[in-house]
Amino acid sequence: MSREFEGRVVVVTGGSRGIGRAIVERFAAQGARVFFTYHQNEKAAAEVTAACQAEAIQCSQTDAAAIDAAVARVLAAAGKIDVLVNNAGITCDTFLMLMPPEDWNRVIDTNLNGAFRWCKAVTRPMLGARRGVIINIASIAGLVGVMGQTNYAASKGALLAFTRALAAELGTKGIRVNSVVPGFIETDMSARVPRQIKQKNLEHIVLKRFGQPAEIASVVTFLASDAASYIMGQSIVVDGGLTATAA
Ligand code: NDP
Repeated sequence: MSREFEGRVVVVTGGSRGIGRAIVERFAAQGARVFFTYHQNEKAAAEVTAACQAEAIQCSQTDAAAIDAAVARVLAAAGKIDVLVNNAGITCDTFLMLMPPEDWNRVIDTNLNGAFRWCKAVTRPMLGARRGVIINIASIAGLVGVMGQTNYAASKGALLAFTRALAAELGTKGIRVNSVVPGFIETDMSARVPRQIKQKNLEHIVLKRFGQPAEIASVVTFLASDAASYIMGQSIVVDGGLTATAA
């Protein structure tokens, strides 16, 4: 694997498990100095720091002061932030009729407001450097209707719109902003989806299999690389063809 991120500083939110962990490991393997956040799973975070060169920071998406402190910590240690990957996210699925307002708020606050807080916190140092890359991890639930996920869909659909608007603001300042839109990827999050729903989705996935976290990580590192220097405000869907066909 090329060491093309040598000298670059990367922050990945929710890097202790699943897709975030794969992103952390790939950036680290490509030479980046990587910092990642986790919420509560200290053990999982320790496994990542044991597996690759990366530094863990406990920090909730919902705590603006903790996010500002995390950014300050990275800047004090590494002097800059070249890449931010807004990956941390949760689901709290149920039908709208049964959804307590707390579940609506928790998902929006973690997935959408958390990304807002992180972008706000890194924008100043990136503007100062007149360079940077922000990548938001959305979901196909933000593109197509998924039953039981009104809260999650709203957070991810808004993240896609947020990506485009932020790209319009930051493009002339040397900061590229894009989204990656995963389909069904095998992680702890998707393990909670009922078997019948998974089976139904599998029938519609053109590649006839679920994705692996590494297959999202490779797209994220591509988008962060100079090879993607003209990609701006876009969403790249990585779903094995699930949303590409009507049948
Ligand atoms: P996982 O549940 O496997 O991992 C979630 C990660 O986010 C963990 O590192 C977790 O930390 C962290 N996290 C959760 N809540 C918070 C919080 N409040 N503050 C900080 N960190 C938090 O999820 P996936 O890897 O599956 O998903 C990663 C991203 O990809 C999410 O944004 C998700 O919406 C998106 N996605 C996933 C898909 C899939 O099929 N898996 C499909 C489409 C999109 P800790 O370990 O401490 O709990």
